Amino acid sequence: MKYRAPRGTRDILPEECRKWHFLEEKIREVSWKYGYGEIRVPIFDSTEVFARSVGEDTDIVSKEMYTFTDRGERSLTLRPEGTASVVRAYLENNLNAGPGPVKLYYYGPMFRYDRPQAGRYRQFYQYGVECFGSGHPAADAEVIKLTLDLLGMLGLEDVTLQINSVGCSECRPVYRRKLKEVLEHNREKLCRDCTGRLESSPMRIMDCKEEHCREATVNAPVMVDHLCPECSAHYAEVKEILNRLGIVGEENPRLVRGLDYYTRTAFEFVSTELGAQDSIGGGGRYDNLVEHMGGPTVPAVGVALGIERLLLSMDKTFLQQKKAPAVFVAVSSDDQLPTGFQAADIARKAGCTVEVELMGRSLKAQMKYAGKKGFDYVLITGQEEETRGIVTLRDMNTGQQEELPVSRLESDLQSVVKQTRNRKEEG
Ligand code: AMP
Repeated sequence: MKYRAPRGTRDILPEECRKWHFLEEKIREVSWKYGYGEIRVPIFDSTEVFARSVGEDTDIVSKEMYTFTDRGERSLTLRPEGTASVVRAYLENNLNAGPGPVKLYYYGPMFRYDRPQAGRYRQFYQYGVECFGSGHPAADAEVIKLTLDLLGMLGLEDVTLQINSVGCSECRPVYRRKLKEVLEHNREKLCRDCTGRLESSPMRIMDCKEEHCREATVNAPVMVDHLCPECSAHYAEVKEILNRLGIVGEENPRLVRGLDYYTRTAFEFVSTELGAQDSIGGGGRYDNLVEHMGGPTVPAVGVALGIERLLLSMDKTFLQQKKAPAVFVAVSSDDQLPTGFQAADIARKAGCTVEVELMGRSLKAQMKYAGKKGFDYVLITGQEEETRGIVTLRDMNTGQQEELPVSRLESDLQSVVKQTRNRKEEG
């Protein structure tokens, strides 16, 4: 074969797309229920938008961006994440002019030049929500609750919430100095990346998965013990609200998240099923980013979830969604097609997924095809059936056939839909 999809990208074929559609539906539903409106931002933005907001020192900006110069000599970048562009759009479109909060969600592909492996791609999808204008702990709690609701709707139970506070511009610098001092003593134990981080972002060393770095940080001070009174109260209230909603998070004082812009609450959703790439998504508060991007002071909180990882964990639940019976409409000859189309319409109204013969095959070949493709039922229309005002319904599992009067077809098929659902649930 001459051409292949670029490394780290892949084609998503129709059968898998059904799973995507199901997930996309749930994303719209949960966003709508929580009052988030969709925003669609360009897939590329000025490189500066990402460099400024995500942070020059982050892995994303320093190593992973797809940056190119266009014919007008502008430096552009395929978006590696959603928040930066959404903040840019929020400011550009004066969305901060009205009363807050402004609640936006996005869904679409992101691009990072990273080493591909299971659950890690160079083009991957994210769903994210951003709530602008509220500094209240209730906003943090709401974003977490929305995410957990979505995971619930997708049937994902093996997910834990990890939560931490990374402080603010008052208390974090003090803590960072302290941490740096301690880690300086263990400099020789740190991996190469972390040695570099010692100057620019020592807190990320706490999150490094390398064993030696882990050892070097065992007794290092943690941010939660150094929060200023305001950050401490904020964190306590987030946990209190979650508690009252029955949400039990696991406090992880090492959690810092990879991006520069977080303040106060940081959280992550971790799957126990995914292996190495176990983070389904995460987010947190970013009270300084809007101002940092040239806007007024606007506190904000958000979350981003990786769609491929959600899909990987979703196999079991999605199978349950396939309970609607699949019906194939077979016609004895081409002149039966109009009748076949009518029967198909009725079956769709009754809640079935329906295909009509489009190949002009013999009835025998159609039955063979329907069996091979795993249809639950075949609706047969022929000359004789037409004269008698009936269609024949063949149950492909049992081989039983019954005659259904066309006049009652919709209600009869509704009962069939019900029976099939029950049968599939039991099976
Ligand atoms: P981040 O923006 O890095 O916080 O990532 C949020 C979520 O996006 C992660 O938890 C993953 O689920 C997903 N994600 C990030 N990078 C990739 C990637 N290269 N391939 C697939 N999913 C990713």
